[in-house]
Amino acid sequence: MLVIEKTNFSLHNPSWRFTLGPETYETKDTPRRVEVIREALAADSRFRFRKARRFPETNLSRLHPYHDFIRKTSRSARRTGEEIYPDLFPGEGARLPRKLDALWGGLYCTDAVTPIMGRTYEVARGSAEAAMTGAQLLLDGYANEVYALCRPSGHHAGPRVFGGYCYFNNVAAAVEILSAGGPVAVLDIDYHHGNGNQEFFEERKDVFTCSIHGDPKREYPYFWGYRSERGVGQAVGTNLNLPLPLGTGDAAYLKALDRALAAIRRFRPTALVVGAGFDTHAMDPIGGFALTTEVYVEIGRRLARTERPVLICQEGGYNVEVLGACVHGLLSGFLEERQSG
Ligand SMILES: [Zn+2]
Repeated sequence: MLVIEKTNFSLHNPSWRFTLGPETYETKDTPRRVEVIREALAADSRFRFRKARRFPETNLSRLHPYHDFIRKTSRSARRTGEEIYPDLFPGEGARLPRKLDALWGGLYCTDAVTPIMGRTYEVARGSAEAAMTGAQLLLDGYANEVYALCRPSGHHAGPRVFGGYCYFNNVAAAVEILSAGGPVAVLDIDYHHGNGNQEFFEERKDVFTCSIHGDPKREYPYFWGYRSERGVGQAVGTNLNLPLPLGTGDAAYLKALDRALAAIRRFRPTALVVGAGFDTHAMDPIGGFALTTEVYVEIGRRLARTERPVLICQEGGYNVEVLGACVHGLLSGFLEERQSG
């Protein structure tokens, strides 16, 4: 299986850490996450690494109105060495500034845990380019399955705002390329609802989006991810949210996965893009499910049975002790099923 990567990922390394009462919080999105995945896959000769290619800036600027804000802010952070966080979120109705300024981040960013640093633009663009390279390989018929080792993640970045460690939506950028070949399905299996994916495509009948995630009544991103969100206008019926309760284990998770895959089959896509997060693992420091390391092999097998070209993009997963094994398990299960079938 081809693994598409960009080697500059460690240049984006946020350092935020704060204490609130007895609790200390710090970023869980460390470059180490990519290193452990890389090590796990490099030890297995079935995985071949290939560098992501360059794509024009317009592939991202036409998706995200804040593209230039991130590019320019990143450039100025590079000059000053700053790590830039918004500290004011003006909400709806704010007047747009005439000239972009780093202080205006609260217009576009939903939180204070997704900073812009000197290399953030370059690394986030590279992450999306890994996904787009994979999509192009599938579209050209060069491969039938590709894994894009993306970091930062993308599924919380939408057509208006970014946040949740995400800057550009890697999956959406890939879908835009694959759409040239016909209808596309997106399945997000990160612990958190893929609100960016949903918002991008909720009015499009040719893109089916589905997300299995922790119930947003209790979990980030709170404002999206409910069962009642089924698509908008002509596209009603092309979004499926499957929120699951805290503590969900292997059996209940696989049942939801089967439901998602059945809906995807009925949609008859020409390709499937999977946003693969591993913060569903029982030992994950952020997620609240109870999945075992072994179940990812079975998840991979079931994804493989879709009998479509599949692009798997890395999303979350923050326990670096198990992350490598989980990713390797999912991709191995996928490959074994495809080779036996
Ligand atoms: Zn997540």
